[in-house]
Amino acid sequence: MASILVTGGAGYIGAHTARLLLEERHDVQVFDDLSKGYAHNVPKGRLHIINLHDTASLEALFATHHFDAVIHFAAFIAVGESMQEPERYFRNNVGGSVALLEMMRRHRVRRLVFSSTAAVYGDPETTPIPEDAPLRPKNPYGESKLMVERILEWLDRTSGLRSVSLRYFNACGAEPRYGIGEEHQPETHLVPLILRAVRTGEPLTVFGGDYPTPDGTCIRDYIHVSDLAEAHVRALEHLLDGGGSGVFNAGTGRGYSVLEVIRAAEKATGMPVPFRYGPRREGDAAALVADSSKLKKTLNWKPQYETLEAMVGTAWEFEQHRRRV
Ligand code: UDP
Repeated sequence: MASILVTGGAGYIGAHTARLLLEERHDVQVFDDLSKGYAHNVPKGRLHIINLHDTASLEALFATHHFDAVIHFAAFIAVGESMQEPERYFRNNVGGSVALLEMMRRHRVRRLVFSSTAAVYGDPETTPIPEDAPLRPKNPYGESKLMVERILEWLDRTSGLRSVSLRYFNACGAEPRYGIGEEHQPETHLVPLILRAVRTGEPLTVFGGDYPTPDGTCIRDYIHVSDLAEAHVRALEHLLDGGGSGVFNAGTGRGYSVLEVIRAAEKATGMPVPFRYGPRREGDAAALVADSSKLKKTLNWKPQYETLEAMVGTAWEFEQHRRRV
């Protein structure tokens, strides 16, 4: 059993990971400023409402718990918004991470799992994308995550911080055991927006039908959030066992277009998805599909969810029962 701090653990992926860690009998503390996450995602007694820039509260938290490792999710995540407000993204995602890293150094916490993103690749030349593909983010969100990855490389060399960065592709779905799911405010992500369209009859806008893909819509690699949470636990175990730093793609290796996601949602819900085409969203790459063989081989990870329909089915289950926020 290890003592783990999960930053941003009231958010979608962080909360799934925190609950999986608790199931695996780790001692878990969550901190989150609730600017995006929800207190109801975190099991009682585990949540500390703190902002990454609040050094005094962070100091108190580190002083009362002896953390063996940190899993760092706390960040802004909307690609489109990052194009409108880049300074806010760099301050929160890069500045906030540096504040956390300084605190970790002060308290001799030397293991970190970092939530990175496929957005570090920009428009990739090869697909599926291996980790050593060129890194050319197309938006400040991706750039902010890449900057933190680079900082972590330096800290590995200079201060012995061991870290695993997981470059997420598109997380979706919900873990039925936990009763939590994806709920962003405002919602920008495809699967919950599709399900909202099913529920309300308000059409989804498909961002661009003129991409150089077979049906003209963007292709993404959708990974079930429970499989992604499992990847974090594997990364953590690797570090706790004395493993070295590394960067890993986290996806299934299978790409689906926006239209294919719509079709899968129609099968999962048994209802039509109303949609219309709109302009492209600034900062979007045409296709992002992971080569995740490194994660499978090195960390012995295997996704449990194989079909998109099954993944969307768990999101639909959550969508029907969740309280509206
Ligand atoms: N998308 C869309 N309409 C929406 C939201 C998203 O067509 O209302 C598309 C978006 O252009 C991208 C894919 O769905 O190709 C996944 O977008 P999302 O925001 O869920 O994740 P991202 O790829 O930005 O991490």
